Amino acid sequence: MLPINEIFATVQGEGFHVGTPSIFIRLQGCDVGCGWCDSKHTWNVHAAQQSSAEQMLAKRDSDERYAWMDLAQVLAAIQPFAARHVVITGGEPCAHDLRALTEALIDSFHLRVQIETSATHPVLAHRQTWVTASPKIAMPGGKVVLPEVLERAQEIKFPVGRARDIELLKSEILPFFADRERLFLQPISQSERATKLAIEAAFELGCRVSIQVHKYIGVR
Ligand code: SF4
Repeated sequence: MLPINEIFATVQGEGFHVGTPSIFIRLQGCDVGCGWCDSKHTWNVHAAQQSSAEQMLAKRDSDERYAWMDLAQVLAAIQPFAARHVVITGGEPCAHDLRALTEALIDSFHLRVQIETSATHPVLAHRQTWVTASPKIAMPGGKVVLPEVLERAQEIKFPVGRARDIELLKSEILPFFADRERLFLQPISQSERATKLAIEAAFELGCRVSIQVHKYIGVR
């Protein structure tokens, strides 16, 4: 059973797979505590927020309601969508064991699967799962970024808000991830200052800037 906050189809708006038609499965629960998180409604797994799977699947706005769903229910819920790319996000999806879900999606349904994780939990997923690590360093939740997740990742999507973040990228992340073509700097809230910092660092490090394209084309 997994606590599911929402399942919907849209185009992936960030990183390597930007523009890809995708089915998003958003899991409830995160213990990282980023102050600028835009998904705070996914943090808690309280019984009071629990709803039926039908109610959760019918909601049109992002809110804290979630439903416990078994594998068969999740697989049935993605059937109406034509996309061949599945994004498992959160919350922090790697707070859960994703092996059964990712094995079914990849081996039985022949879908491509991407996980978006803060890299603070071990990745329990099919070995062909594309792991997007968005490392969150020294956040209030006290979680530690795991080097083995950085080394397992196919891409890094690093949030940039201040100059200190670039120093942390160099000291804490780059020793474990060498591919600059798959290193994306993402300005937090796309503020002017953060965007300028990300562009300067991309020139210096030979990596890329990623903006949240979905916010510009009016999709979720
Ligand atoms: S890891 Fe993601 S979901 Fe969790 S607090 Fe940070 S930004 Fe929000």
